[in-house]
Amino acid sequence: MKVYSNPVGSGNLWFDNLTTAEGVPVAYDPQARAFLPMPPFCVNREIIGCNWIAPEQGAFCRSCAMTALAPDPNIPDAIPNWAETAAHLLHLSDITDSFVASGLTSPEWPQPGWDPYSEPDTALLIHVAASLAIRVNHVNRSMGLPDLYPFVLSEMAQRKLAFVHDWLRRGAQGR
Ligand SMILES: [Zn+2]
Repeated sequence: MKVYSNPVGSGNLWFDNLTTAEGVPVAYDPQARAFLPMPPFCVNREIIGCNWIAPEQGAFCRSCAMTALAPDPNIPDAIPNWAETAAHLLHLSDITDSFVASGLTSPEWPQPGWDPYSEPDTALLIHVAASLAIRVNHVNRSMGLPDLYPFVLSEMAQRKLAFVHDWLRRGAQGR
């Protein structure tokens, strides 16, 4: 999980924080990859707890502005399917990011300073993340703990992950 610095006080902020520990409202700026202590906030802030900044007061953030691209609700299970795939993609990226942030390395790692969040090649991201997850699963088993990531990614699951990854990356780039 990414940790961000607090722009208006001590302590850190997590990706989904709406306020600091002291209750000061903050918003995430995806361009700066940092938190700001001021509006304009996304209009979805009060509705679904979106904590991103908006281009202007009363506007959606870059992410929520893409809501028109949400899966067609007339397709059976489209929205749960999308949500589950997106959650898996974020878990895999986060496992990978946390791994390197902890100072660990692995033979699959592409190069020093590699950022899994901005990797365009989903197959590479999945390969690295799955390799790491298998290793951490073994570490957990040595302590009698359940597997960290107890899933096998089928060919179909990988295609779904690639599809979601492509959409999310394009959204982040405003395309
Ligand atoms: Zn938003």
